[in-house]
Amino acid sequence: MEPKGLNIIKAVAPFELPLLPFSPKDLQPHISEKTISFHYDKHHRKYVSSTNELIKGTQYEKSTLEQIIKDTAGNPEQQKLFNNAAQAWNHWFYWNCLSSDVIKPKEKLMQAINSSFGSFDKFAKELISTSVAQFGSGYGWVVMDKGVLRVIKTSNADTPIAHNLKPVIGIDVWEHAYYLDYQNRREDHVVALVNNLINWDFAERNLEME
Ligand code: MN
Repeated sequence: MEPKGLNIIKAVAPFELPLLPFSPKDLQPHISEKTISFHYDKHHRKYVSSTNELIKGTQYEKSTLEQIIKDTAGNPEQQKLFNNAAQAWNHWFYWNCLSSDVIKPKEKLMQAINSSFGSFDKFAKELISTSVAQFGSGYGWVVMDKGVLRVIKTSNADTPIAHNLKPVIGIDVWEHAYYLDYQNRREDHVVALVNNLINWDFAERNLEME
């Protein structure tokens, strides 16, 4: 199954806000319709429109989002463009990591998890604890690094694709992702998300993408 919203990933600028792969109310009770509406319609939309504004009249007008992210990463003069382009990409990825359908990890993904972490339980615990431990805004990620799955965290808009790491799962732990529903209880939010909402089919697909 193809992920939703590939228009923002495969196209060159100007970018469009990608469609959500679910309805805003579908992730309840774990994430409320209100949270998804603000997160998608306000935050994600703004990252996309700001990216389009910032590249007007620049060399990036016909670039893909991924090219812009890789080109501007680590360049202090391009920090604002990097932040908005990376957030436009990160949110596309995050939405596709979520599903209201009960999807269990299938054999290929389970093999990768078992060989990298020892067991699914150890993997889930590490994904939760690392995501919760991110100080301030950022993300918890599962990435593929030289054939091994690893759990990492990144700050603010930073994204694995800026570091040549292949993202498999991404969890947004900015306060805007959970504060309306969980206030300061980030751990409760991440536990509910990992236990109930991960689209393991999307994760498995990301193992295969090069
Ligand atoms: Mn977010």
